[in-house]
Amino acid sequence: MSSRLILLGPPGAGKGTQAQRLTEQRGLPQLSTGDMLRAAVKAGTEIGREAEAIMKRGDLVPDSVVVSIIGERIDQPDAKNGFVLDGFPRNPAQAAALDEMLQQRGLSLDHVIEMKVDDSALIERITGRFTCAKCGTGYHDRFKPTKVPGVCDSCGSTEFVRRPDDKAETVKSRLDVYHAQTAPLLPYYRAKGILHEVDGMAEMDEVTRQIGNVLDGRG
Ligand code: AMP
Repeated sequence: MSSRLILLGPPGAGKGTQAQRLTEQRGLPQLSTGDMLRAAVKAGTEIGREAEAIMKRGDLVPDSVVVSIIGERIDQPDAKNGFVLDGFPRNPAQAAALDEMLQQRGLSLDHVIEMKVDDSALIERITGRFTCAKCGTGYHDRFKPTKVPGVCDSCGSTEFVRRPDDKAETVKSRLDVYHAQTAPLLPYYRAKGILHEVDGMAEMDEVTRQIGNVLDGRG
C-alpha cells in the first residue's frame, strides 16, 4: 500500500528514529531535509555553505532551498510508492509548496502524524544524543548507550559524532522556531482531516505501534 506521510513534531520528538523504522519495516524512504542539509554542509556544496551558519544558530534555511531539495528527492524512483517526510514542511509556506508539488504530480498526502512530546523532556533527549560516525546508528548518553562503552553496537566503530546544533544553547532556539513557525501546521492539516496524534513520550516500540495503526487505518 502506498503511503505519503509527514512526521511532525519538535526537535527530539523521535521523528528520525521512527522514520528509519518505517524505512526498515515498510520500505518507505525517509526524506529528511536536516540529513540532506548536513550532507551538503559536509560535502561543502554551495547549499551547504549557505546553510551551515543558519543551522548552527537553529534558524530555518530559506524555503526556496529546502523546497527544491525535496522536489528533486520525491522524483527519485525509490519515492515513487510513498515516503516519510521528516523535518519538512516546517512552516506554512513550505506546506503550500508541498501541496503544489504533489498536485502537479497527481499525488496527495495520506497522513500527517503529530508526535506529541513535553517541551521539558526535549532538552535532555536532544543534548544526550550521538551517532556512530561510520554507520549512522543513533544513541543517547542516558536512554540508549552503546552496549560496550565507546563501541558501536551495529558496526564496531569507535568513532561517534554529535550534531553541532544539539548544544543546549541552540536547542532553545530550535524549540522556539518550532512553536512559532511549525506548530501552526497542525491546524492546517487537521482541517484537511489527515492529522493523527501519537504519544511521543511513550516507549519507542509503542510509538512505532501507534504509527503503524495510523498507516493501517486503525489509528
Ligand atoms: P533537523 O535535522 O530536522 O532537526 O534539521 C536541522 C536543521 O536543518 C534545522 O534546525 C534547520 O536549520 C535546517 N532545516 C531542516 N529542515 C528544514 C526545513 N524544512 N526548512 C528550513 N530549515 C530546515
